Amino acid sequence: MEWKEAAALGAVLACIKPRRYGRAKAAKGAGMPLKKLVAGNWKMHGLSYDLDEVKAIATASAVYPGVEVALCVPAILVERAARAVPGFAIGGQDVHHAEKGAHTGCTSARMLLDAGATLTIVGHSERREAQRESDSEVKQKAEAALSVGLDVILCVGESLEMRDSGQAVATVTAQLDGSLPQQLEGEAWLAIAYEPIWAIGTGKIPTTDEIAEMHAAIRNGLVDRYGSAGQEVRILYGGSVKAANAAEIFAIRDVDGALVGGASLKNQDFVPILAAAASAG
Ligand code: PEP
Repeated sequence: MEWKEAAALGAVLACIKPRRYGRAKAAKGAGMPLKKLVAGNWKMHGLSYDLDEVKAIATASAVYPGVEVALCVPAILVERAARAVPGFAIGGQDVHHAEKGAHTGCTSARMLLDAGATLTIVGHSERREAQRESDSEVKQKAEAALSVGLDVILCVGESLEMRDSGQAVATVTAQLDGSLPQQLEGEAWLAIAYEPIWAIGTGKIPTTDEIAEMHAAIRNGLVDRYGSAGQEVRILYGGSVKAANAAEIFAIRDVDGALVGGASLKNQDFVPILAAAASAG
């Protein structure tokens, strides 16, 4: 189905029955591919009037029940977004690892949850770089979020320098090892987003072989850490995903979805990516 038809059908469905976005488990069944997860990262974009865009995306996403969809918006928009689209997954983009305390300007995991978020990103490269977040801090953040029941998208990715010097896989697997929560427990899920720093917002993307190689290495790291449960952790690709390249990316082995920045801001750019994920199965 074309995305325009899907958006129109979504609008009709929203009128004739209550919205049912629901949360779904990552695993479809033993040996089956994981349900694709497509999450938007709005970064520092979004004012009150952009809630119309959130509503349009949530409505259109109901047409693709085989794809799990989420939007991670600025913390200050979480509550309004969550109220605007009940049952649709709204997330934050970071949490502080502490439960509470003297941390001016920070947001705890429980605060995000209290505002209506169901998930959060942690360890985005823009925070690792600008806020100098270390692997161990990212690990603490992931553990804090999971402990209150927030789903977590944990980002890893190499710089261009590391890619060019042949150190990409070693860099990312070391980052993963230092950032992964100690154990997986409870209902909340963990997903890993592989985001090469040089591909974010640049229009450049790695080759399909490079993505496949990295996702296989991440899968090995997850299985080493969590045993068979590591097979159930979704690995998203992030970095300049758009309608034109989404189908090719989703066809790569061990690509279980995408973390999308720029192309998640507008319904007409984001919904075709959901359609591509739905077609990939
Ligand atoms: C991101 O910020 O996580 C991201 C992937 O951005 P973009 O899609 O714009 O490259």
